[in-house]
Amino acid sequence: MEKIQHRAHCVILPYPVQGHINPMIQFSKRLAHKGIAVTFAVTEDIPINESSAGISVETISDGGYVGNRADAKMPEYLHIFRKAGTESLSKLIQKLREEGRPVDCVVYDAFLPWGLSVARDFGLFGAAFFTQSCCVNIIYYNIFKGLLRVPVLEKEISVAGLPALAVSDLPSFVRDQEAHPGSLELLAGQFEGVEDSDFVFVNSVYELEEEATDWLRKFMSVKTIGPTIPSMYLDKRLTHDKNYGLNLFKPIDTCMEWLQQQSPKSVIYISFGSMAKLEEQQMDELATALKITDKPFLWVVRSEEESKLPENFTEEASGKGLIVSWCPQLEVLAHDAIGCFVTHCGWNSTLEALSLGVPMVAVPWWSDQATNAKFVMDVWKMGLRAFPNEGGIVGHEELARCVKYVMEGERAVEMRENARKWKELTKGAVDEGGTSDRNIQEFVSTMIGGARPQE
Ligand code: UDP
Repeated sequence: MEKIQHRAHCVILPYPVQGHINPMIQFSKRLAHKGIAVTFAVTEDIPINESSAGISVETISDGGYVGNRADAKMPEYLHIFRKAGTESLSKLIQKLREEGRPVDCVVYDAFLPWGLSVARDFGLFGAAFFTQSCCVNIIYYNIFKGLLRVPVLEKEISVAGLPALAVSDLPSFVRDQEAHPGSLELLAGQFEGVEDSDFVFVNSVYELEEEATDWLRKFMSVKTIGPTIPSMYLDKRLTHDKNYGLNLFKPIDTCMEWLQQQSPKSVIYISFGSMAKLEEQQMDELATALKITDKPFLWVVRSEEESKLPENFTEEASGKGLIVSWCPQLEVLAHDAIGCFVTHCGWNSTLEALSLGVPMVAVPWWSDQATNAKFVMDVWKMGLRAFPNEGGIVGHEELARCVKYVMEGERAVEMRENARKWKELTKGAVDEGGTSDRNIQEFVSTMIGGARPQE
């Protein structure tokens, strides 16, 4: 009798915020490109439609949370999500089975570790997906295991797999637990069950953090699969893959026309991502720094942050700078006019700057951003971190100094050269035979091989 060919099928379960959905969509596109059927399971409020890239979208429930998840009361939200998500994900897997599209693996965001239990209930593979660097993973893993005690009392921390870190290099949730109740629980909780997970994907590049990746591999099946940036900015093998496919904010079209009129490497691009809420004084310092540096600039100020801009600044700046509520960041970073990126060092923005070869001035706001900033400055050597004063504000002189140093200081050429090197390396990682490509291919081969985790 002829054997019916089963197409390997993965359900992808992201945490429903932009910085987690984008990397997991991009990973899904790579899987689909290699012949895997993908079902992307998101909460109802996420406006996503990727069926064109061979990915079907289904909804699951997080208990009906309404609002900005960055503001959610973490322990309660996660508890409700775990309950509602476990139920609705189980129903989804059952439904797909009944429709003749049985699932082989659940790729779950490490923020949602219960994804592994659901996978196991159905006898499926379970794969964790981490949206932060291996280095940051090491810090949280040590806390999860009780090997790094919080609060950290030492001035300098020495952890295997990492360079020596100052307290100011640690994620904000580790440095100041009280300011972020429940967040450390969430971040360290990512490692729940991870040693039993069949695969542990990290949106990073082996060559960017070899030592850290090798260290983690002793404890879990880590596979770096990044950078999860649309293929047309990297290896160009997925010819339709030009953007992420999800924008929770609407990009302003005029940016690219405006950039077109600027000279090569002349523009300062400033963005703090999708969540940061800056102090009014911080906005003021940034505005003053831009006046002092006297260079063209493109500044993303989200609508809800706009009222914090100094009075008349937008009018005064017109001609010299452009302020927009959101921009197509990848296109912007890829543009020849950009000379430097003043960034909060969110992991996606950092990877994008590394992949597109743009030197950075790091102004971390929260979460893992300070750790990413440390690596940008001291390990990848393609930028500077602007440090805050005692009041926690990064002053205009410090900002202006860093921007000038990165754009035209004595090490500007070296930083550009490093930026070029990382650009080549990240592209090579996802191109055929590169470290990330091989890791993805290995996973795909296991899926296509049709084995079961217990076999
Ligand atoms: N982004 C964008 N347009 C903007 C600002 C940001 O498309 O004007 C994108 C950026 O390319 C990145 C994401 O939003 O992919 C921000 O993610 P990141 O991890 O850097 O920061 P988060 O928003 O999670 O703090």
